[in-house]
Amino acid sequence: MPPRIFSTTKDLSLYIHVPFCAKKCPYCDFYSCPPHDINSYIKALSQEVDGLFTEAPHLEHTPLRSVFIGGGTPSLFGQESFLLLAEIVHRFTHTADMEWTLEVNPEHFSSSMADLWCSQGVTRISLGVQTLQAKELRHIGRNHTPDDIERIFANASIKQFHSISCDIIYGLPGQTEKGLIDTIEKLTKHSSIGHISAYELTRYPTTPFGKDPSIPFPTEEELEKLTEICHDTIEQAQFYPYEISNFARTVSDESCHNKAYWERRPYLGLGPGAHSYDGSYRLSRPADLSGYTKETAKGYFSNLSVHQLSREEHREEYLFLSLRTRRGILKQEFLHQFKEPLFTGIRKEVISDLCAAGFLREEPQRVYPTRAGMLRADGIALRLL
Ligand code: SF4
Repeated sequence: MPPRIFSTTKDLSLYIHVPFCAKKCPYCDFYSCPPHDINSYIKALSQEVDGLFTEAPHLEHTPLRSVFIGGGTPSLFGQESFLLLAEIVHRFTHTADMEWTLEVNPEHFSSSMADLWCSQGVTRISLGVQTLQAKELRHIGRNHTPDDIERIFANASIKQFHSISCDIIYGLPGQTEKGLIDTIEKLTKHSSIGHISAYELTRYPTTPFGKDPSIPFPTEEELEKLTEICHDTIEQAQFYPYEISNFARTVSDESCHNKAYWERRPYLGLGPGAHSYDGSYRLSRPADLSGYTKETAKGYFSNLSVHQLSREEHREEYLFLSLRTRRGILKQEFLHQFKEPLFTGIRKEVISDLCAAGFLREEPQRVYPTRAGMLRADGIALRLL
């Protein structure tokens, strides 16, 4: 007997994973494959929603606060495929001010596609800039150039979106401090950019970058310096960090969707490799397009892993996720969720040590990390478990 999922959900965030990329970037370990079978994928997505609405009919009328279409490379969809994808989003009920983010690779941006995305309800673009240094872009196998980015911001169509976010990466092979500063300064001078996500490059062992020891990655010391420079330069441009890797110009530029993950609000993931959370269960599908297109016709629970979180797992997640954010741990929320005060036993001592060391700050309502604390969020969470 499958569990009753999303039974207490009042509002929801939706993630759709588009698993296609024109080619694989050598550092990336996300699930993606060549764009060969787009129609079967979209048909399977629609069947997944059919199955979901059979198991949890109320979700059809549960308003979506946010939608995020990510991948993979969703922007490689042409007009016809994008409209079919949008139809799936339109099967759900939306709040009046729903945030709808689309991940866009710069080489796919055009006035006509921007108009189409906007006409369907997209409010926010997350642009995969990565770096504005031509040599670095070539090295990491990206298909765009720095000129493509300038072309986008010279195009009036970009102004129709409520918010623009740019992804950048630091810790790239051969990246210099000067190059990183130049990238950030050039991006932040565009007033239409309200959000920056800055990620440290991870060397996943299964990727070409992870397997090749001859690639000149920064040393630990250089990486620490690049991290400091990255945060300093973004903050000097009047963006503030509200999460370890995410910076906003104003509160309305913060990503409502990502905050749902960090604040552990219910979200539904559709597509191969997508995850869902309903406040009690974590659900996940294998990252396998061919299995996905076969299984979804058999019902929502077919080939879906379901795990009910224990109280300890809830608490662990709460601490790990909260300590990544400037919001931090809310004392009342912690008490309400875990039926124990935050300041109990050894935790009281640990928090006071971490405050004295400059990693945490305490206010009457909450305990939150400083920048140094955010950058060590996992280690701090482990000490508070
Ligand atoms: S385009 Fe993005 S998702 Fe696709 S391989 Fe490159 S980094 Fe990964």
